[in-house]
Amino acid sequence: MTSTLPNGLSAREAAPATTPLPISVRIRERLRKEGVPFLANDNIANHLREGELDQLEIEVAGRVRELLRSLVIDIENDHNTEETAERVAKMYLHEVFKGRYHHQPKIASFPNVKQLDEIYTVGPISVRSACSHHLVPILGNCWIGIKPGERVIGLSKFSRVADWVFSRPHIQEEAVIILADEIERLCQPLGLAILVKAQHYCMKWRGVKEPQTSMVNSVVRGDFRHDASLKQEFFELVRQQESLLST
Ligand SMILES: [Zn+2]
Repeated sequence: MTSTLPNGLSAREAAPATTPLPISVRIRERLRKEGVPFLANDNIANHLREGELDQLEIEVAGRVRELLRSLVIDIENDHNTEETAERVAKMYLHEVFKGRYHHQPKIASFPNVKQLDEIYTVGPISVRSACSHHLVPILGNCWIGIKPGERVIGLSKFSRVADWVFSRPHIQEEAVIILADEIERLCQPLGLAILVKAQHYCMKWRGVKEPQTSMVNSVVRGDFRHDASLKQEFFELVRQQESLLST
């Protein structure tokens, strides 16, 4: 219950700000107020202020330390886990989930001056993510097919944008859609096809423990969706690229 002081201020409002709210609470309150979604696979980089990521890293490390204590691990005396909390906080915020907290890498697009309209595929591009349900790795490959439109981007840029999109907690079905949205935004192709084949460690490492099972899913848009032969050509090119992998 909040007690109200005679001047109408609640006790917390009147109290000197000796214990500021944790930074994650302040960020969440701001995002809610602005109506900005912050699901596991959303990017919130535009809504973080200068220095907040550093404060977040300190807070997350503290929480991980508490998690280790709750797991009854003697972090005070175990030389192996002594700095695990700091490592994990850094890894989440700047590596494996960087696609939530960091801006998209700068990707320049260029006019398609030669009016190229033949399809091409790029792949395999390694993708690394973590499942939203268990936070364990999803590792796999991605192939991207493009029928160019008005603008084009460099081949290596597909890897960069895929890495940024996948470096968030995900479910594979949504990751592919988010990647497709980003590529469409970057170069507005006439046709776009993406195929992802990945292994989920929540199936390999735990649960049913199936070491070989992989999940394959795809999204096709624009001309790849309307033209069955083009779609066929994409899957054929991917098959060729994949068989090159195994030779
Ligand atoms: Zn899972």
